[in-house]
Amino acid sequence: MMWRSGTVVALHDETPTARTITLQVADWPSHVAGQHVDVRLTAPDGYSAVRSYSIASPPNAEARVELTVERLSDGEVSPYLTQELAVGDRLELRGPIGGWFVWRPWQTEPIQLIAGGSGIVPLMAMIRARTSAGSTKPFRLLYSVREPKAVFYRDELEVISNREDSVRLTYAYTRVAPKDWPRPPGRVDASVLAETTWSSKLIPTCYVCGPTSFVESTAALLVACGNRPDKIRTERFGPTGGRT
Ligand SMILES: Cc1cc2nc3c(=O)[nH]c(=O)nc-3n(C[C@H](O)[C@H](O)[C@H](O)COP(=O)(O)OP(=O)(O)OC[C@H]3O[C@@H](n4cnc5c(N)ncnc54)[C@H](O)[C@@H]3O)c2cc1C
Repeated sequence: MMWRSGTVVALHDETPTARTITLQVADWPSHVAGQHVDVRLTAPDGYSAVRSYSIASPPNAEARVELTVERLSDGEVSPYLTQELAVGDRLELRGPIGGWFVWRPWQTEPIQLIAGGSGIVPLMAMIRARTSAGSTKPFRLLYSVREPKAVFYRDELEVISNREDSVRLTYAYTRVAPKDWPRPPGRVDASVLAETTWSSKLIPTCYVCGPTSFVESTAALLVACGNRPDKIRTERFGPTGGRT
């Protein structure tokens, strides 16, 4: 697959440690919600590093690709993308990649989205694709996040979840919950799933995305709740790439 050049046209901070990068990509072949790209950074001496990032934006005719990157303080690539990259800079990217962890507007079954931390990114693309397709298909989102200030896309999620026929949104806080929150902070467990997600009897398609351990434990809980393994699609945000 060929490398393309994207120009940074906007930057937006989602949280104190995460930034959304909007790229204009010439000849972008469009994408499907849920897919990702590989980003390659090359130093003047020729050394390069590649990392995968999910696409946050829905399919669009403007050849725009949005990525949201969480900064790992000891990381090689994410500190550069979230702190040094500037509007007007160029980034090399390859994609779109992925054909299984995707949502298409003609899917009619109930959709259960479950995000852990930055795993919200491809799920947000699905929510945005649903909105831009004018769809009222039944969607639910369970968003597990460390604390309120770590939530990505907060205002947009609020607006979407307040609309009629919309996405039912539940936050599950793992470290710090807002005052008066009904549940003490903790990891997603069987009771959270039972209370907030579609019943397995409705045979929802479940999309689970986040750190590898989160994805594996959540997928196992979904199966224990009666969901069919072939209805559970997962995307693991483990370490990727490395040196090339
Ligand atoms: C399909 C896919 C999609 C992804 N989408 C996104 C996205 O939308 N947004 C996003 O922020 N990240 C995403 N990632 C993760 C991303 O590819 C990088 O792994 C991440 O940005 C860290 O890169 P780095 O160079 O800063 O850290 P590195 O220099 O690679 O690693 C620094 C340290 O952090 C550890 N580490 C690396 N990656 C992770 C991780 N993901 N979680 C926990 N520890 C890690 C390493 O083991 C190492 O100890 C995705 C990964 C995959 C596989």
